[in-house]
Amino acid sequence: MEFSKNEIIRLLADEQNQADLFKQADAVRKQYVGDEVHLRGLIEFSNICRNNCMYCGIRCGNANAVRYRMSEEELIDTARKAAEMGFKTIVMQSGEDMWFTCERMCRIVEIIKKFDVAITLSVGERSYEDYKAWYDAGADRYLIRIETTDKDLYHRLDPNMTWQKRHECLLSLKEIGYELGSGIMVGLPGQTIESIAQDLLYLKDIKVDMAGIGPFIPHPQTPLKDEFGGTLDLARRTMAVMRLLMPDINIPATTAMESLHPMGRIWALQSGANVVMPNVTEGEYRKLYELYPGKICVDDTPLHCKTCIGAKIMSIGRVIGSGYGGHAGVLPHLPK
Ligand code: SAH
Repeated sequence: MEFSKNEIIRLLADEQNQADLFKQADAVRKQYVGDEVHLRGLIEFSNICRNNCMYCGIRCGNANAVRYRMSEEELIDTARKAAEMGFKTIVMQSGEDMWFTCERMCRIVEIIKKFDVAITLSVGERSYEDYKAWYDAGADRYLIRIETTDKDLYHRLDPNMTWQKRHECLLSLKEIGYELGSGIMVGLPGQTIESIAQDLLYLKDIKVDMAGIGPFIPHPQTPLKDEFGGTLDLARRTMAVMRLLMPDINIPATTAMESLHPMGRIWALQSGANVVMPNVTEGEYRKLYELYPGKICVDDTPLHCKTCIGAKIMSIGRVIGSGYGGHAGVLPHLPK
């Protein structure tokens, strides 16, 4: 659907009538992507990061973060178990940990691809050649949030990084053929409603296949610890407007939303979302991948998470997706 920037701003700002917006987004979701909720098994395989994003708990400047990195075997094993549990998509996310070289990631992707799953990578900014090699090895989707389209804000929050570079990564990924996932945080210090409206138009403009929207949650071991953070309501309105703008894309109910309220993901699923990414990381690693405080399910097992969210999904009359859950039926591609 076409919306002017002013219309988007009006919808984002309208707290009074948000229930109507949520209802409308829910109806559009049902019409375009149906009642299936696609589950992605999320593996957080390293919290080692060369970047120093002001908002992020695993920024390299956080000397208090206890660092970990899964071995290749551990990562592959975690993915195998997730596939055995029935996940048809495996999402591998980490800080920007350069120990995972181009070749190493290729090897990992090639092996995991044999488990009959779609593969999503989310390991930050890399070269065009790396992205291309991983795609050829069998990676299907890539997730890298633009975070904000306000360039000044971006440069304040992500020292030593440039907005242009991140933007170019997104364009490269799309060009290579990945299903492209991006998104933003809402409630960043100094972020305006107008800038969020701009973000949504940007995501539409670059034709994302998936858009993740989450509230910014201040982490006590970061420079932004005393900031207010984003509200669940604003994050939800943003997500709902995204659904109206791009009716058939994949939209996750984000973990950060549930970290603000125990009903966060369910409410998100009822206001436009159609994807959930249960954590399948095991043991202590879950706690240590602490982007923000109050992260849910840190003491749970993969099986518990899958069963728990599965029951919640069915309790609201929805069904667990049985396929790979690509945007508009796109299937995993074969490795080159
Ligand atoms: N290195 C990868 C993964 C980053 S972590 C990359 O660069 O894409 C995944 C996402 O968590 C980030 O893109 C950011 O949007 C979100 N995030 C980080 N810190 C956060 C915080 N304090 N509150 C909410 N979300 C946060």
